[in-house]
Amino acid sequence: MNPLVPSDRDWPEDAKHENGNYLCHCLTCDQHFVGYKRRMTCKVCAKIAQDKWSALTPEQRAEKEARTWATVRKLFSELDK
Ligand SMILES: [Zn+2]
Repeated sequence: MNPLVPSDRDWPEDAKHENGNYLCHCLTCDQHFVGYKRRMTCKVCAKIAQDKWSALTPEQRAEKEARTWATVRKLFSELDK
């Protein structure tokens, strides 16, 4: 990956912000992209996730959020031990 060559994985809208031109690593696809330094997902993977979320019914979204929060609460409770 050459960061000087634009990619669909980049977030060009981040470039105008301070720290918006970092070479980042996507935790989903393991590819590099250019964007804000704290981004963890490339634009391609973010779009896929967004499309999947949009396809869910409100009930499915609520169920998924409840499972995610249960996981977060469990992780934090284990940190307190
Ligand atoms: Zn990705």
